[in-house]
Amino acid sequence: MATWGELLERNQKYADTKHKPQPYVSEFSEPLPQFFIFSCIDFRVSVEELLGIRSEDAFIVRNAGGRIKPNFTDLVFVETFTGGQAVKDVIVIHHTDCGYTHNTDEGLKDKLKAQHPNHSHEIDQLHFGTFGSSDWLEMSVREDLKFLNSLPLIRQEIKDNAKGYIYDIKTGKLSPVSHEG
Ligand SMILES: [Zn+2]
Repeated sequence: MATWGELLERNQKYADTKHKPQPYVSEFSEPLPQFFIFSCIDFRVSVEELLGIRSEDAFIVRNAGGRIKPNFTDLVFVETFTGGQAVKDVIVIHHTDCGYTHNTDEGLKDKLKAQHPNHSHEIDQLHFGTFGSSDWLEMSVREDLKFLNSLPLIRQEIKDNAKGYIYDIKTGKLSPVSHEG
């Protein structure tokens, strides 16, 4: 396990040996990233690595579970800022053995209430969007695609192109999830 000091040393080395200066927004000429990917914060799911993504390929949002709902404004922001000239495909990736398959919202809230007994009102307002069980993994991807579909501020092209996948942390493979099922 690396210390923060070691990570800073790695950054120094990266800046000295590997980094290529990136263009400012005012200097953009290349096509902008076409993919907008939602995936989990889990350290076993390195999205850049598993898809061989280079920085110009994709916008990547990582949150617990890889859910669209907590971060859909990020997509709205990119759409607005780029005047709809960047994103063509939204990709949702949930993964096997996700922490969200091992927890339920109710269970998390019970634990939180035990830790913070004076804040049950605030805790009741929380929505994690956990899957509860590995049986719900595909369903959670479908739920996210449906949620995307329901957003009035998102262009139809993006809704039509949206794709969902399950990433298997043992094999490293992505399996498509159909929109209906
Ligand atoms: Zn996860």
